[in-house]
Amino acid sequence: MNKTVLINLVYLLASVLFIFGLKGLSHPRTAVRGNLTGAAGMLLAIVVTLLHQQIVGYGVIIAGILVGGIIGAWMSFAIRMTAMPQMVALLNGFGGGASVVVAGAELHKVLVESAALTTDVAIATAASGIIGAVTFWGSLVAYAKLEELMAGKAVLFPGQQVINALLGVGALLLAVLLVMNPGAAYLYWLLVLTASVLGVLLVIPIGGADMPVVISLLNSYSGLAAAATGFVLYNNVLIIAGSLVGASGIILTRIMCKAMNRSLTHVLFGVLGPTSETATADEIYAGKVKAATPDEVALLFDTARRAVIVPGYGMAVAQAQHAVRDLTNLLESRGCEVEFAIHPVAGRMPGHMNVLLAEANIPYEKLKEMDEVNPTFEQTDVALVIGANDVVNPLARTDPHSPIAGMPILNVDYARTVVVVKRSLSPGFAGIPNPLFAADNTLMMFGDGKKALLELIAALKTA
Ligand code: NDP
Repeated sequence: MNKTVLINLVYLLASVLFIFGLKGLSHPRTAVRGNLTGAAGMLLAIVVTLLHQQIVGYGVIIAGILVGGIIGAWMSFAIRMTAMPQMVALLNGFGGGASVVVAGAELHKVLVESAALTTDVAIATAASGIIGAVTFWGSLVAYAKLEELMAGKAVLFPGQQVINALLGVGALLLAVLLVMNPGAAYLYWLLVLTASVLGVLLVIPIGGADMPVVISLLNSYSGLAAAATGFVLYNNVLIIAGSLVGASGIILTRIMCKAMNRSLTHVLFGVLGPTSETATADEIYAGKVKAATPDEVALLFDTARRAVIVPGYGMAVAQAQHAVRDLTNLLESRGCEVEFAIHPVAGRMPGHMNVLLAEANIPYEKLKEMDEVNPTFEQTDVALVIGANDVVNPLARTDPHSPIAGMPILNVDYARTVVVVKRSLSPGFAGIPNPLFAADNTLMMFGDGKKALLELIAALKTA
């Protein structure tokens, strides 16, 4: 069999594995298998790519795999679970950066060989350069914001959108010039420079609370950049894998926008909801917050028939998921029905709570999504909020001036009693106070999530 045919057949097989992998990833029960299926597809694609005409020696390739593999393995062990979004942002960025460099290298190779650059390849090269550079720099800014290397809030200045529009038009004009003069490699690097500035300027006006949407959008961009590079290299598997990443990223972006009640245009162009007129923490909390000890909370559970646990970012910080499982088992053994309410943007990455609860072997059937659980809060005796804040903030419903106005939330305040476990009255990611903590039916159990739950379990056992 001809080598090219064999390579393309294996690429096709790898693509099928990617698609089955993605299908598996769409449900927690099949996610691990889906991940392995996708990884097997990638291994196959990499191995068969090595059979492709050998441009650089295997020594260089092996050195690259070793260096990249060691850095990747180190990062995966060193990364805190709570820092996962930054890691994802960085990896998206590397994907975009790789597309820029590969397309640029291919352009120079064609020019050095004095071969003609066809129009389709020139268009794909320009697309790789623009999308890849926007992805790389945009992702670095997202990383810096999430890692708190720069201020997380929106950076706005006059004329920002006009400048962005001019940069976008400039990059497109350079792309047209490159297609018309494929021999002028400097146009490519000028285009990359313009798109790089655009990437920075597009992400700096985006405020912290919108970061999850931006990360999934940049993820989609990194896929599109890879697909464009696939056209540059005539590499089918890169085109297919890039398109899959591009499409799944945009679907996730839509889901996240819906969960935060933000339109993509609003997220991208920094049209944030009004922020300055929200009531201050003092106005909301003064004299109204009631603290309770674990013993007092244990008494509440004596008569509770139904409890809903609402995990948030603080559960991840405290690594309280195992204590949550022990508490659930204990409550169930005492005849109390326990369910979990999962908000789509709870924590710091999509699926954050699902991952942690699955790690603690909490049955998936107990995890209820917002639409399913919200109508049940009125029949809930105790809503136990563990390290969640923004996703249960009633200001989203009541204050049109709040930065989270209109974001669908978990309506825990409709439960008979709400117990909130957190260390202080500090705000969550959106930086705003939460009237839930001062509500008549709320008790605050102050403390680190894990420690407080262990104390509650001990109190329940001795009650
Ligand atoms: P929040 O960020 O609103 O609040 C988390 C709360 O956890 C804080 O108020 C903090 O209070 C508490 N906390 C921190 N450490 C501990 C601890 N050790 N023990 C107990 N509590 C602790 O979290 P939510 O999950 O409610 O909301 C997520 C927010 O993050 C949303 O605004 C969302 O838009 C945003 N976001 C989501 C992403 C995603 O993809 N899911 C990605 C990026 C941002 P205290 O300090 O008083 O303990």
